[in-house]
Amino acid sequence: MRTVLVSGGVISGIGKGIIASSAGLLLKTTGLRVTAIKIDPYLNIDAGTLGPLEHGECFVLADGGECDLDLGNYERYLGIQLTNESNITTGKIYNLVLQRERKGDFLGKTVQVVPHITDAIQDHIERVSKIPVDDSGLPPDVCIIELGGTVGDIESMPFIEALVQYRHKVGKDNFFCINVTYVPVIHGEEKTKPTQHAIKQVRSAGLTPDLIACRCEHKIEEATLQKIARSCQVDYEQVMTVWDMETIYQVPLILNEQGLLDVLTRGLRLDKLELAPSMV
Ligand code: ADP
Repeated sequence: MRTVLVSGGVISGIGKGIIASSAGLLLKTTGLRVTAIKIDPYLNIDAGTLGPLEHGECFVLADGGECDLDLGNYERYLGIQLTNESNITTGKIYNLVLQRERKGDFLGKTVQVVPHITDAIQDHIERVSKIPVDDSGLPPDVCIIELGGTVGDIESMPFIEALVQYRHKVGKDNFFCINVTYVPVIHGEEKTKPTQHAIKQVRSAGLTPDLIACRCEHKIEEATLQKIARSCQVDYEQVMTVWDMETIYQVPLILNEQGLLDVLTRGLRLDKLELAPSMV
């Protein structure tokens, strides 16, 4: 099992969901089975009680699960069917741990964010990433995990800690980090400083970026991408530009043109991945 984490910095609403779906779609074109998990660090148990004006429409899954509309994007891009468990919220995880606490599962112990909440997050991810989501009935090869909000938010800290531990557990060759940042254009100049700060924050949180996807209103100039690579200590191939498209279904194409699949294949050693019997 390989994991691709998509997190974001600078501001929210910059297209993490579309980039996560696009990465999954490109991986799927190589014959891999791909699933997806969305983490929403709010205390609501699910998106059913959220105001659509603030959060966008609630997406209802086939099993009745009410969740974030990103799950709809994953299902459409990847041609899969997800379940209510594919959407993790802070509320869901705390609810689970608190129910276990009342049952006496932790008798004698102090129940804490680390390790009880962080372990519950990892257990959930590990279990849900293996659930078959297509007609093959086989467990997926790759799980795309999108972390909602931005790195540095108080709300997302337990999830970051859990994901850093999970990366250590599965090994860094099985875990690929995509960081989505925003490059503002001020008086015609592309500004890289917010990206530099966002990547610094991601590194200090314990996650090393394998790819920096820079959202901008237009295609970012090569010199700017070079500057981002240099200042964020990654190779030029690890920085990509995602600009405003007429339709979101063009995003996988522009990422493919920039070699996303090659970077993912190398980063996750996909050539070494043993395919399930049906694929060989
Ligand atoms: P996030 O996951 O970071 O909150 P989303 O992926 O939900 O962001 O995208 C926010 C909004 O921007 C959505 O309405 C989405 O359709 C739109 N969007 C995302 N990427 C692009 C793009 N490259 N061009 C145009 N619109 C986009």
